[in-house]
Amino acid sequence: MYKINIAGSQLAFDCAPGDTIARAALRAGIGIPYECNVGCCGTCKIELLSGSVESNWPAAPGLGERDRMRGRVLGCQSRPVSDCTVKARVGDQYLTGRVPRRFEAVLAGQRDLTHDMRELRFSLPEAVDFLPGQYALLQLPGVDGPRAYSMSNIARDGATWHFQIRRVPGGQGGAAIFDRMKVGDRLTIDGPYGLAYLRTANQRDIVCIAGGSGLAPMISIARGLAADPALAGRRLHFFYGGRTARDICGSDMLAELPGWGERIHYYPTISMPEADAAPWSGRTGFVHELVAEVLGASLRDHEIYFAGPPAMAQAVQRMLFEAGVPGEQVHYDAFY
Ligand SMILES: Cc1cc2nc3c(=O)[nH]c(=O)nc-3n(C[C@H](O)[C@H](O)[C@H](O)COP(=O)(O)OP(=O)(O)OC[C@H]3O[C@@H](n4cnc5c(N)ncnc54)[C@H](O)[C@@H]3O)c2cc1C
Repeated sequence: MYKINIAGSQLAFDCAPGDTIARAALRAGIGIPYECNVGCCGTCKIELLSGSVESNWPAAPGLGERDRMRGRVLGCQSRPVSDCTVKARVGDQYLTGRVPRRFEAVLAGQRDLTHDMRELRFSLPEAVDFLPGQYALLQLPGVDGPRAYSMSNIARDGATWHFQIRRVPGGQGGAAIFDRMKVGDRLTIDGPYGLAYLRTANQRDIVCIAGGSGLAPMISIARGLAADPALAGRRLHFFYGGRTARDICGSDMLAELPGWGERIHYYPTISMPEADAAPWSGRTGFVHELVAEVLGASLRDHEIYFAGPPAMAQAVQRMLFEAGVPGEQVHYDAFY
């Protein structure tokens, strides 16, 4: 174990060999800012004041040349090789009450959702709690570094975590999942992580906006809403954007929930109808445009969750800002 001290505070925590500083801090109940956990967003940058670390991914895009010159490192990628003192922001707002841990899981089942999306269901050694909308890190066989995938079910389902994973062309993780993994395979899962979880302390209606691979956390939030009697009065507007008709899915999962068609509404749209071989008579255009058209000024009265690729996330953020939605009502994890 290495001891990590946070400069300017009384806070210190242990980091197990092979673990990273940001993840070990969260395991110890110390909240430091983070978002993607896979080296891309840069939110978990810390300053190394003393001691040594090695990076799991030295070329991670979340750290720029200027950061390196200033002694900054990515907390999510830095493995200590001695005791360390770091300068880091800390705050309870980065904690969820669900302590991330590593466990071995077994692939218990899988099914194709679309031509490039697959649902995988893992059995855990015991029930591990998480909040709707959170994600985990999966160490896939033959892949460099873990991949972040959001759970699509809710913790009440027992000792299973479900994921809905899109195959990205040329991706290592996608190749492992779609070409090599089979029922009965074991892998290490680390989680739960993520701060874009379902908020229950207010009575605002909910908007979920998913683009492509962002389906899973939004489905989890919808399921969390439907399962919580305290939230029975809240409406859900669920928007899903794909490129073509064959990308569209999710309505069958929402249709199973109590309140479907009454308080739960689904709005799919496709952005490339001209590239479509399959017939499509529904809405066309980008998903953020459809949200603005359907909800207009009333967006300000909603609690808003979204997930998807960076370009979609930026467009949604811009639209919500222009609509005047207060920042504290908006929750998202950008996918990388
Ligand atoms: C918070 C979060 C939640 C996500 N949830 C989902 C989800 O529910 N469903 C879904 O389909 N996708 C999700 N993603 C995206 C997913 O994690 C992958 O980025 C995507 O599936 C492409 O992975 P790939 O391995 O196929 O592609 P690749 O191009 O092989 O890898 C892409 C990602 O892997 C990481 N990476 C690449 N090389 C290395 C390395 N050498 N060491 C360490 N890391 C490396 C980087 O994060 C990079 O962005 C999520 C991403 C984030 C950040």
